[in-house]
Amino acid sequence: MSESKIIEELKASIRNIPDFPKPGIQFKDITTLLQNPVYLQTLINLLVKKYQNLGITKVCCIESRGFFIGSIVAYKLNAGIVPIRKPGKLPAETISKSFTLEYGEDSLEIHTDALTKDDVVLMHDDLLATGGTAEAAQNLALDFRIAELYMNFIIELDFLKGRDKLNKNYDIHTLIHF
Ligand code: 5GP
Repeated sequence: MSESKIIEELKASIRNIPDFPKPGIQFKDITTLLQNPVYLQTLINLLVKKYQNLGITKVCCIESRGFFIGSIVAYKLNAGIVPIRKPGKLPAETISKSFTLEYGEDSLEIHTDALTKDDVVLMHDDLLATGGTAEAAQNLALDFRIAELYMNFIIELDFLKGRDKLNKNYDIHTLIHF
């Protein structure tokens, strides 16, 4: 099967939940992809193929749905896992970046000793929507003056133009577009 056919099949496995968590939002539920062993393995294989020869040393996984796939990919790439978490969750010294939500603000944190200037980082989250989360995560990683950064999402909601918020000097890759 061609790669585009495989991606179409993965896309069809994602469940749409209307009005979750708020009225008017069409939530893309990836649990229906993750719970299928064949789809899970297919997804991991596609990501490993894309990132395997780039010398990735750490995979930064964005809380919380980014933890699932980011961790498996890190293991497959022989890289380390770095969690990027909501405020107050990481136990040691952190740096923090805030970002705007539809109503109000949120922030993300990373441990101050999580990355070094020699790291080649793959940043992973399940979904790119308005881009606030990914922008904050990207800025956290870039604060460490790392050697290289790759941004990866399983899903991108193209109509929200979240990609426009991200630093274009770094590769941004999404598997499934809506
Ligand atoms: P953004 O900051 O780009 O607006 O939102 C992206 C973040 O919100 C990601 O961490 C993602 O997990 C979560 N998110 C927003 N909308 C959805 C959705 O429809 N489905 C899933 N699975 N996550 C979403």
